[in-house]
Amino acid sequence: MIEVSEWKHERERMVEEQIVKRGVKDTRVIQAMKKVPRHLFIDKTYYHQAYNDYPLPIGQSQTISQPYMVASMTELLELKGDERVLEIGTGSGYQTAILALLCSKVYSVERISELTKKARLTLEQLGFSNINLIVRDGSLGWPEFAPYNGIIVTAGAPEIPDALIEQLANNGRMTIPVGNEACQTLNYVEKHKGRIYRKEFFGCAFVPLVGKGGWK
Ligand code: SAH
Repeated sequence: MIEVSEWKHERERMVEEQIVKRGVKDTRVIQAMKKVPRHLFIDKTYYHQAYNDYPLPIGQSQTISQPYMVASMTELLELKGDERVLEIGTGSGYQTAILALLCSKVYSVERISELTKKARLTLEQLGFSNINLIVRDGSLGWPEFAPYNGIIVTAGAPEIPDALIEQLANNGRMTIPVGNEACQTLNYVEKHKGRIYRKEFFGCAFVPLVGKGGWK
């Protein structure tokens, strides 16, 4: 990724105050969050808010997630560098960029083509070459490249879609917000020898996962 020096100071303060202080420990995640220029994933009119502690609009009634949410969901995947990761809900592409610095290949699915278009441009300008984007219903996953060592869903689902459980590799990890359309609980899933182990973490509020395996 191309280094971006603009807003570097704000970015480092964001990581210290919002991410390290709240308990994120994975040093690779912390480094990635210090590197990726969040401001380039949103409209210029929001640049001065880019490193604040909340989600921001990205158009099409969608949002870029809160930085802390991105960091803690990514940390749960325990990425070492050689994994293939599936992301559902490309949105701005910010989470995609963080993942791309931490694993070998990212496959990211978005249902709104305008968002994919913008995300593709931003990610290309930053020099990423290990990211695949597609426009389709991500509640059905991306079966052509399955299985995935990690799956991250950045939209709220009524239940964990069966397709995503199927496409998770053995010893793979998944994080996904599950609940109603207004608020959810972050769910964490591990798959070992075909069996699913599921844990619930903190409350969260994501835009709905709209599709065959999500909200109709
Ligand atoms: N990770 C993104 C979050 C974007 S918000 C970011 O930080 O920018 C969640 C995204 O999920 C929205 O862009 C929305 O359009 C998308 N989404 C909702 N349902 C989807 C589905 N079934 N398949 C793919 N993307 C979906």
